[in-house]
Amino acid sequence: MIEQLRKDFPLLQNLVDEQPLCYFDSAATTQKPQVVIDAVNQFYHQENANVHRGAHTLSAQATTKYEAVRDKLAQYLNVQRNEVVWTKGATDSLNLLAYGLTNILGQDDVIVLSPLEHHANIVPWQQAAEKTGAKIALLPVSKEGVLDQSAAIELIRDTKPKIISLCHASNALGNIHDVKQLIEASKPYGTITVVDGAQSFMHLRPDLKALDCDFFVFSAHKALGPTGVGGLYGRYDLLNNLPVYQTGGEMIDTVSFTGTTFRNAPEKFEPGTPNICGVIGFGAALDYLTSLNKNELLAYEQSLHQYLLTRLRQIDGIKIWGDNKNNIGVVSFTYKNEHHFDIATLLNSYGIAVRSGHHCTQPLMAHLNITGTVRVSLAFYNNQQDIDSFIAALMETIEMLE
Ligand code: PLP
Repeated sequence: MIEQLRKDFPLLQNLVDEQPLCYFDSAATTQKPQVVIDAVNQFYHQENANVHRGAHTLSAQATTKYEAVRDKLAQYLNVQRNEVVWTKGATDSLNLLAYGLTNILGQDDVIVLSPLEHHANIVPWQQAAEKTGAKIALLPVSKEGVLDQSAAIELIRDTKPKIISLCHASNALGNIHDVKQLIEASKPYGTITVVDGAQSFMHLRPDLKALDCDFFVFSAHKALGPTGVGGLYGRYDLLNNLPVYQTGGEMIDTVSFTGTTFRNAPEKFEPGTPNICGVIGFGAALDYLTSLNKNELLAYEQSLHQYLLTRLRQIDGIKIWGDNKNNIGVVSFTYKNEHHFDIATLLNSYGIAVRSGHHCTQPLMAHLNITGTVRVSLAFYNNQQDIDSFIAALMETIEMLE
């Protein structure tokens, strides 16, 4: 089945620097299936028009197609269509939220984050804390970068946070967090719960009603879709009560020089011309993803992850970070004192595309007492052959470095 699916991804068939590509950077952005490329192409060839404001045929068709993707997304996440806002991506969604929730923060309040967060889920909250005097408390994490779940629940009980914002899965180490249990633990305190689903959206296809979070953010480009589009789910009453973030056309009800009134969510957070083509391309990605069996794909990704770990563990001097138990298929490693960038650069000369550096998680790297790692991130379109090629290239890389 996987060999058939790989054919849907044209870039995987290409040579890069005259080498077959082994793409291990899906946590940064996924490759795109032909159906997404076709949808984008078709939009600009045959369907291009602005949405929501035209009486003409193309505009009406673009609007219908664009709005239909909101339904697909709502269905994918098991929420209502008016609970999903289109944004530029996870970063944009988190900024919208931190800006909006600044209103409810005061100097006696606590925002709970974890040391594993992506900078996008740290800096907006830091700004909110600076403006309001609120404090940031960090969930306890082991020396290896693994969340201590029972200590985390204790910290929630002790701090009774106003807001908790946590990644569903770490982009640097791949650990999947039991966010549901932490959400439950925070319920008695009226805590607003935010899940950064940038890394879980595609691999785990989370059911947000079951997760019971207040807000959830993601980026389309990490789930086979185009860049520059993403979303925010919000429990409707909370979402609708957030103050407007950016203003302009489309999000207003009436405008006059004596005052302006705004529409309700989600439109109130969607000023200006949206990324129409991006959303339509993402619709094709959602169709593609949902046509595949979620459990089969996940089981396949887990088996690849296990294979990768087994092969890596056979190499002397490799240090693998995190516990790699419940993981979306991300392996972060270092080799002795060699620089992660040197390893990634040498691997690139064999057609192996990995990421090196701090992965936008500088506090985590400081916690682990390293400057960065080499990160191999898998998706269902990888195969065992990719991993064999990677291990062979890594052995030669190590030989060169020794
Ligand atoms: N949160 C996590 C966990 C991520 O991995 C990323 C991107 O890598 C982001 C947030 C930010 O996503 P984007 O750059 O698409 O806005």
